[in-house]
Amino acid sequence: MAGYVSGAGSAGAGPRVVAVANQKGGVGKTTTAINLGTALAAVGERVLVLDLDPQGNASTGLGIDIEQRFKTSFDVLTGSATILDTILKTAVPNLFVVPANSDLVGIDAVLSADQNKPFKLRDAITAMIGQQRTREPDTHFTYVLIDCPPSLNLLTLNSMSAADAVIVPVQCEFFALEGISQLKDSIEQIRATLNPRLEIQGVVLTMHDARLSLSREVAENVRAFFGSKVYETVIPRNTRIAEAPSHGKPILLYDYDCVGSQAYIRLASEIMERERRYKAA
Ligand code: ATP
Ligand code: MG
Repeated sequence: MAGYVSGAGSAGAGPRVVAVANQKGGVGKTTTAINLGTALAAVGERVLVLDLDPQGNASTGLGIDIEQRFKTSFDVLTGSATILDTILKTAVPNLFVVPANSDLVGIDAVLSADQNKPFKLRDAITAMIGQQRTREPDTHFTYVLIDCPPSLNLLTLNSMSAADAVIVPVQCEFFALEGISQLKDSIEQIRATLNPRLEIQGVVLTMHDARLSLSREVAENVRAFFGSKVYETVIPRNTRIAEAPSHGKPILLYDYDCVGSQAYIRLASEIMERERRYKAA
């Protein structure tokens, strides 16, 4: 796929940078970053999952043991390593990860006096795009998916300053919409100040249980709030999805045929279709 002009501020072609964000915890951000990344890689995209959460769940879910995380997103944000220095391979061809660990907890203190602190990640991605220009085009990333922590903190701010677009996972449960207007306002604010390119790519309903009227009601409410931004594809609640991370595997490797895998494959094609329409507009 041809590159996009990046939210990371590159002048030329670069990857499409997408933040997976919702300050609410446990809604499926990491699961979406891992499995959407895998599904995109499976259709030939070259994908980098950038773990920006001190919990390091995306790294663990992609099979990266804590001892393997020699350099992490903390080093990228503090400028002691480039993104290309920190990248690790995963078991999925075309899918790579910048791992994270608990060092990220201290990032606010480390960057406290840094005037440029909201733009650390954007600048690192821009530098990566520059470094990649000198390499073969088939080594260039076409997508960077950033797994955000459950907070509207400096890490999420960095992620949104670097991103072209945000994907918001929303869990189909009672408090689903709690805090969602705050998230929408934050995205608007960042667009108005730090990153005029930022847009909501889409909202994905996760952990949907078709047997429950609550799931159906929440899905309706989210569609009423976000309108056409909500993807048609709904990710079902599926125990195979929950099991996969403990095996260090994306669901597509763990159980390709299960409903969870198939849903993430559909989500990837819907997202790519949306990107094509957006590009053509
Ligand atoms: P945090 O805010 O802590 O980073 P998160 O938003 O990244 O959480 P996940 O870690 O992706 O959320 O998911 C929360 C939990 O729900 C995990 O145990 C995960 O395995 C499980 N889970 C996610 N999606 C599904 C699903 N579709 N079906 C069943 N379980 C799921
Ligand atoms: Mg997470």
